Amino acid sequence: MTDTGLPHPMLVDAARRAIAEGNPENARDIAIEAQRRMLTPVINATGTLLHTNLGRAPHAWQQDEGYSNLELDLSTGERGSRMDTAPALIARACGAEAAIVVNNCAAAVLLVLAALAEGHGVAVSRGEMVEIGGGFRIPDVMARSGARLIEVGTTNRTRRSDFAQAVDDPSNDVAVVLQVHQSNYRIVGFTEAPSVTELADLGPHLVADIGSGLLDSRCPWLDAGPPGWLSDEPAARQTLESGADLVTFSGDKIFGGPQAGIIAGRADLVAKCARHPLARALRPGSLVLGALQATALAYLRSDGQAIPFWRMASASLDQLRDRAGGYTSGEAIDTVATPGGGTLPGVEIPSIAISTRGDHRRELRNRTRPIIARVVDQHTIIDLRTVHPSDDIEVDQALQELD
Ligand SMILES: *Cc1c(COP(=O)(O)O)cnc(C)c1O
Repeated sequence: MTDTGLPHPMLVDAARRAIAEGNPENARDIAIEAQRRMLTPVINATGTLLHTNLGRAPHAWQQDEGYSNLELDLSTGERGSRMDTAPALIARACGAEAAIVVNNCAAAVLLVLAALAEGHGVAVSRGEMVEIGGGFRIPDVMARSGARLIEVGTTNRTRRSDFAQAVDDPSNDVAVVLQVHQSNYRIVGFTEAPSVTELADLGPHLVADIGSGLLDSRCPWLDAGPPGWLSDEPAARQTLESGADLVTFSGDKIFGGPQAGIIAGRADLVAKCARHPLARALRPGSLVLGALQATALAYLRSDGQAIPFWRMASASLDQLRDRAGGYTSGEAIDTVATPGGGTLPGVEIPSIAISTRGDHRRELRNRTRPIIARVVDQHTIIDLRTVHPSDDIEVDQALQELD
């Protein structure tokens, strides 16, 4: 078993379990099973660009051994702030006065509500009492923040006047109007929801949880501008321009960075969030801030190709067909990829895949570097949009080796 390279305690555990189960000869298999539960790089061939099970947006940044100036101001030699690094660049990239970063968007909403509305009311439309994957529920987050939920309007129709009425009632003591993007579902038919512009002058602070982290609806980082499938996804810059005081969004959805939550907008309100005791508990370390800084710099250079999500999302069908032509097994077919990550439900991005007869998912998953594929009509589909071009040779090899 030592050939597995696993540390001694793990081998001991595997041997003990095998003996307890009455099959000592299974120890090696149990050890290998444990090895396969560990974090490891995989090839995403599913066509879901932000795959929740695969860590949403792919990583594009590594850190070498060593220290960083995380909280050292190099010009003065005095203590600096970690929020002067990546957060300041993200603020610049989306036109916000200031920004801070926490561990994820759920934490961002929690912190904003705690800092701006603890002990006060927060008005939310009944059409936006959402649950995002992984148990993020607006009413629960609200309760944890110490703010009081004031429900406004109806499930399908909420107007500005509904919010105005809630704000005007002194017993509600509304400190924040919260707009939550319906990231992973849509209400269709007889619906109405007020725009950010309509809610901006109600009086209380207006916070928009936009979720996916589209920085600018004009996508200046893409040569061809915004892709059609983005449709009316709310963007940080335009939401702030329309009058939101703060926006919150994830780092690892359409923003294309590491897991993080960003709070951006008015400098005084961002400072209030940063001063709240919860901020200390929710702050990220230098690994995350380093990756966010690299992503923010790519946005500031308008270089979407340096951000894996946007590079994959904007690859042309001709590029994908060219790559498919290099595969020596399977058959190139037209398919559709999806943004995924609980964003843009129902949106399809035309793509090209290599299709092979039979369900080979397990075999592909069991490779040293697992390949995650999907099956459609008894064919294994390798969607090239989410496979890095430099992995084509390895994937082709894997297809040749299939039983
Ligand atoms: C995804 C999402 C969240 C949760 O974000 P995490 O980064 O996963 O915590 C919160 N609000 C909205 C609108 C979202 O789309």
